[in-house]
Amino acid sequence: MSVACVFCQIVRGAEPASVVWEDELTMAFLDRRQFHPGHTLVIPRQHLCDVRELDHKTGPRSWTRLHASRAPSPWRFRTKG
Ligand SMILES: [Zn+2]
Repeated sequence: MSVACVFCQIVRGAEPASVVWEDELTMAFLDRRQFHPGHTLVIPRQHLCDVRELDHKTGPRSWTRLHASRAPSPWRFRTKG
C-alpha cells in the first residue's frame, strides 16, 4: 500500500469514491471525470506499479470484474463508448 497513491487511498477509505463493487481482491468505482457516463475503474486492492505485478488470483479476478461490469446491473449507466 502506498500513502501517495490515490487508488490506495480509495481502498483504505481515506478518499471518497462511488464504489459499485468490491471484494477481497478488487474494487470497482465510478471515475470522477466520467469521460463517458458510467465510466468505471476496476483496480486491484493491492498497490501495484505495473500490470505484470498482478498475481495469479488478482489478475483473473480483475478481468472477471471488467467483464461483469458490461452486464446489466442497477448501477449501470447507458454509455456511448
Ligand atoms: Zn496504490
